[in-house]
Amino acid sequence: MNSLKLIDGKAAAAGVLRQVKADIARHGIHPALAVILVGDDPASHVYVRNKVLRAEEAGIRSLEYRLPTDIPQADVLALIARLNADPSVNGILLQLPLPAHIEEALALQAIAPSKDVDGFHSENVGGLSQGRDVLTPCTPSGCMHLLQATLGDLSGKHAVVIGRSNIVGKPMAALLLQAHCSVTVLHSRSVNARELCRQADIVVAAVGRPQMLDASWLKPGCVVIDVGINRIEAGGRSRLVGDVDFDSALAVASAITPVPGGVGPMTIAFLMKNTLTAALQQANTPRSLSEAPCLSTC
Ligand code: NDP
Repeated sequence: MNSLKLIDGKAAAAGVLRQVKADIARHGIHPALAVILVGDDPASHVYVRNKVLRAEEAGIRSLEYRLPTDIPQADVLALIARLNADPSVNGILLQLPLPAHIEEALALQAIAPSKDVDGFHSENVGGLSQGRDVLTPCTPSGCMHLLQATLGDLSGKHAVVIGRSNIVGKPMAALLLQAHCSVTVLHSRSVNARELCRQADIVVAAVGRPQMLDASWLKPGCVVIDVGINRIEAGGRSRLVGDVDFDSALAVASAITPVPGGVGPMTIAFLMKNTLTAALQQANTPRSLSEAPCLSTC
């Protein structure tokens, strides 16, 4: 019989948030996270509301900046500059996607690396690939936490990451490499993707295609982390599914994250952890090992 394990991202995220809250109390600090939302994308409003709620729960003050869709790029950059210079603000999050007239790379690059709690600034991206102690993107950090909680030491495992975006696929591959995995990154131009994936001990799917991976993509006993969040219409109702066909994958995987309730809650929990890390670094407080940002061992 298959010894399937459901990887409970909600419970793991609650544990991370509890630890963040305890560390905030222990250090007697009051971290603040500025969240900038440009425009009226409904999904972004939901994400921001969730982030603000989790921040409050963790003891982090959130400052919301809701800007109109047609705000000039210069005004967004001016706000970021003001928040960079404000010592009472520890983290800055620019909710994506941005309206087309605002250059995403330019805006993300305007955030001070020390307050870049999403880990998207080129200084943090470069630091991650060099294995330095930097702020690391939240979704891949959350995935690493789940993988290490499930498998322990990842050293020597063959990991396949499907997707090579700057926010998920590439930093995920960098973190797995740091944890001493052998890493294969697949993308839309990959040849024989299914066969390559079937060799993996660990599969991280970050594609954005509903239920693309079924059991035929998976090696028996592999661990599956499903990052995808896709809305589908089925049986007259709308629901969220991942990039993995969950029911089919259940038959072969040894452990798998559900959608929803897997990676999503971890992303928000690691945003709070990064905000705490940023606040401590800015206060120049020495950190204990248990608080170090998630690179290869959290
Ligand atoms: P992107 O669209 O930026 O990247 C998708 C990647 O998938 C690209 O690298 C693309 O390849 C690759 N791809 C597309 N089609 C195929 C295919 N047929 N075979 C193999 N690779 C393919 O998406 P994101 O990385 O931003 O997000 C991926 C998914 O994760 C989405 O569903 C998103 O909603 C979800 N997500 C979830 C988060 C969470 O907290 N749970 C956080 C962030 C994202 P190429 O580069 O060649 O185009």
